[in-house]
Amino acid sequence: MARHIYVHNPFCVRKCPYCDFYSVTDCSCAEAFYKAAVREVKLIGSVTDENTGTNLLTDIDNKDTVYFGGGTPTVPDSRFVCELLGEIKKAFNIAPDAEITIEANPSSVTSEKLTEYLQAGFNRISLGVQSLDDEVLKVLGRLHDSKGAIDALKKISDAGFTNISADLITGVPGETLDGIKRDIGTFRDLGVKHISTYSLMLEEDTPFYDRYNKTIEEYISPELEREMYHGTRAFLNESGYETYEISNSCMPGFRSIHNSSYWNSCEYFAIGAGAHGFLGDMRYGHRDDVRAYIEEMNTITSDTYKAFLEGNVSGLKLLYIEEELSREDKMREVAFLRLRTSDGILLDEFKKVFGVEFEDVFADEVKTNIEKGLLERKERTLRLTRSGLDLANVVIKDFL
Ligand code: SF4
Repeated sequence: MARHIYVHNPFCVRKCPYCDFYSVTDCSCAEAFYKAAVREVKLIGSVTDENTGTNLLTDIDNKDTVYFGGGTPTVPDSRFVCELLGEIKKAFNIAPDAEITIEANPSSVTSEKLTEYLQAGFNRISLGVQSLDDEVLKVLGRLHDSKGAIDALKKISDAGFTNISADLITGVPGETLDGIKRDIGTFRDLGVKHISTYSLMLEEDTPFYDRYNKTIEEYISPELEREMYHGTRAFLNESGYETYEISNSCMPGFRSIHNSSYWNSCEYFAIGAGAHGFLGDMRYGHRDDVRAYIEEMNTITSDTYKAFLEGNVSGLKLLYIEEELSREDKMREVAFLRLRTSDGILLDEFKKVFGVEFEDVFADEVKTNIEKGLLERKERTLRLTRSGLDLANVVIKDFL
């Protein structure tokens, strides 16, 4: 049974004005945080058995994955990160062919760190480039410029990484489709195998929300945003990248196995302040508080941790249950997660897992969206059409 582990590193050099992921810029407790994370790994290792890690749907790749996200995992001392990975490999008995990813930012990768990550076992890197247009990067408040991002990508391949992903943000005031196409072309030429394209979201409680909430449509109208989405997707496909999920495209053979495990409703363990996991019927989280994380991981007993993972303890300072999923919730999640993918909902698999036909459970939703031309059924698969992709959020909402 494949194991999936997500580690949330909560440190960044500076807070980007659009970001609402949990991170802090005071790295003085990074060492204590990573020691606490090692303790959490050992706790999980001592209370779970080989059989934990069951999946609702077929884990298509059936490979172990470890994903260090954040925050910026390349900001703290690489020694801390590499030691934690070593503990994870031991505690979870991670297979040698596992996909092991580290997120990085151009301003915090050095050749020395990259060599250490490779030696520790990381074999995939996801670089937060966001744009190769200096004006767009300034609007986004990023620490790097386009030259810094290109240099980082060269360092990453020179170090020996071959499975390289880069992020792009679309819909930034001042950004153009031609600019995005240029960025994709540069990525391809630099050997980037996977590209994630995210639309700029105005999240409440961020400086961007205050700055653009009332005016964003003056910069990017919904029509322009759609045109950019299609133009970007078409150019990615022309350039050899297959779009396998609404926001993710890759060269053949380079799908993110870790992210695919989310869309396949696989269980995954969470480690670190701000990390969220999924086990059995439970979605659980670690509160966004690095100091509380250090304290709780240093004091919690293995019995209490075990009881928490079994859903039997509440009232902890840091660990909390976000949601207990009913059978109906799980069916809705399959719709929600799988409709985002190019493979869509596999109707036979749904029937095998839940014992009912998807089209019986969601009869009205399926019928209406097929009539509107937003969903299509091909043999025993149901997925979004091209127009459905434009209105993915609306279609998906119907199933929630
Ligand atoms: S570097 Fe990434 S995680 Fe950190 S603040 Fe910026 S966008 Fe958020």
